[in-house]
Amino acid sequence: MTVYLVGAGPGDPGLLTRSAAKLLARADVVLHDRLVSPAVLDLVHPDATLIDVGKDPDEVGGARQEEIARLLVEHGRSSAVVVRLKGGDPFLFGRGGEERDALAQAGIPCEVVPGVTSAFGVPAAVGIPVTQRGLASSVTVVTGRMGEPGAGPDWEVLARVGGTLVILMGMTTRGAISDALVAGGRAPDTPVAVIERGTTPSERMVRTTLAGLAGVDLEAPAVIVVGAVAALGAQAPAESTGGPLAGRTVVVTRSGQRARGLVDALERAGATVLELPLTRQADPSDGGAALRAAAAGVRDRRWVVLTSVNAVDRFMAALRDARALAPVLVAAVGPATADALRMAGVEPDLVPAEHSARGLVEEFPDAEGTDRDVLFPCADGAPDTIAEGLGHKGWDVQRVEAYRTVALSTPEPELLARVTAADALTLTATSSLRAFLALRTPDGAPLPVPAHVVCIGPTTAEAARSAGLTGVHEAWGASGDGIVAELVNHFGPGGGGGS
Ligand code: SAH
Repeated sequence: MTVYLVGAGPGDPGLLTRSAAKLLARADVVLHDRLVSPAVLDLVHPDATLIDVGKDPDEVGGARQEEIARLLVEHGRSSAVVVRLKGGDPFLFGRGGEERDALAQAGIPCEVVPGVTSAFGVPAAVGIPVTQRGLASSVTVVTGRMGEPGAGPDWEVLARVGGTLVILMGMTTRGAISDALVAGGRAPDTPVAVIERGTTPSERMVRTTLAGLAGVDLEAPAVIVVGAVAALGAQAPAESTGGPLAGRTVVVTRSGQRARGLVDALERAGATVLELPLTRQADPSDGGAALRAAAAGVRDRRWVVLTSVNAVDRFMAALRDARALAPVLVAAVGPATADALRMAGVEPDLVPAEHSARGLVEEFPDAEGTDRDVLFPCADGAPDTIAEGLGHKGWDVQRVEAYRTVALSTPEPELLARVTAADALTLTATSSLRAFLALRTPDGAPLPVPAHVVCIGPTTAEAARSAGLTGVHEAWGASGDGIVAELVNHFGPGGGGGS
C-alpha cells in the first residue's frame, strides 16, 4: 500500500542506491519509463509485474501523464509494494512532483528514493567535473525543450550566466540552442561535450564546440555539457571502436523472458550475439488429437484464451476455419499473441494492459450464468496461473496441450560450428548451465565450451566450475550490463585478453 518514487540512476546498475536495489527485489509491481536501462530492470524480482508506461521524456505527453497517475493510484490501492521507477533522479525533469501530488490526493502513501541524476552522474562518469576551481564556479541544469513559448528556459539569460550549462532533453533542439547561446554572447568556441546513453555499455561521446553542436551525430538520450570543463576528462572508450566488444561473438542461451535485456546490452556494446535455443517446440504427446477435438467443439465455449504465438498457430491450424470462432470470445495475453491472431483473421476481444497471465486473469470478467466454458490451448509446461485464476472467477477452464517444449539435444550443424568458434558463453541460471551441458554434437560428444564463460551470480559460476568448465567468470550484479562489463574487462580496450 505504499508507492515508492524511485530514481534508477543514469543506467549502470552500480549507480543505483541501496534502497532502490532493495525495493526492486521486493516490489510487487514496477512501473517504469522507457529511459530506465534493461540492466536495471533485470534486478526486478521475476515474479513482479513489470509495466512499461512507455513515456519517452523527449516527448510531450499530457494525456499519457494522466494515465500514469491513474495506474499509480490503481496499483497503489491493490498492491503492497509499488515502485515507480524513473531514470536518474525522480524529481529532476521527471514529473515526480506531479505523481507524488496525484498519490497524495488519492490518499496513498508515497515515499521518494532519490537517484543519481544523469545531469551530474553522466559527465562525472566520463571524467568531466561540472564545477572546477578556476574554470567553473557554478552549474546550471536546464531542459533543452523549446516547445511551448514561455515554458522553456531563457537562453539569452543563460548565455550570460556563465559557468557550466548542463542541458537535458536537448538533442532535437541542439541547433537552435547553439544559435541562441551564441546570439546571447557565449563564445562560439566554448567547449561542448555530448554524452549519449552515459554509464551504459552503448555509451558514446563527442567533444566539440558550441558552434559545432548542431553537427553532432548522436541521439537522445544524451547530456550536453557546455563550458570550459567540457574539455576535461578521458575520452569515452566506445567512441572510436564501434563498441568495446566489436568483433567478439558471444553466445546467449535462450531461456525466455528476460534474456532480451542481455542481448540488447551485448549488441549495444558491439558484440555479435549468437542466440542458442535450449528448447524446441514439438507436437503434443497425443499427436494433436485432443487439440483437434477441442477445436471442433469450440463453438460451445464462451472463451478461448491464448498465451503464446505458438499456441495461436497450433490452435488455428487445428481449427482450419476461423469462422468457427464467430460466436466465441478470444483473449490474448499480449501484443505478439494478439498480432498472431490478427494474422489469422481474428480480432481478440481482450488484451490486458499488463501483458502477463496475471494481468489477463485480473482483467477477465467474472463468469455469469451457465455459459462458463473456457478453452485454454497451451504448452505442456504452461503454468497454472490462468486455469486457477479464471477458476476463482467462476470459469470452467479446459487446458489442452497444443504443443510441447522439449530440451534441444543437438543444435543445427551451422549453429554448432559458430558456438564452438565463439569467444564467450553467457549463463544466467543453473538451469541454462544444465541444459547447455546436456547438448550433444551429432556424434554424441559434449559441446566444446568457448574459452570464457560468464555467469550471473555465484551459484551459477560455482555450478559451472564444479561441472569442470574453465575460464569461468562471475559477473557483478544480476544483470546484462554486469555481464557486458565483465566481458569488456577481458576483451575490451585495455583489457588483458586472458582469463
Ligand atoms: N530524471 C532524469 C532526467 C529525465 S529527462 C535524471 O535525473 O537524469 C530525460 C533526459 O535525461 C534525457 O533526454 C537525457 O537528456 C537525460 N538522460 C537520462 N539518462 C541519460 C543517460 N544515461 N545518458 C545521457 N543522458 C541521459
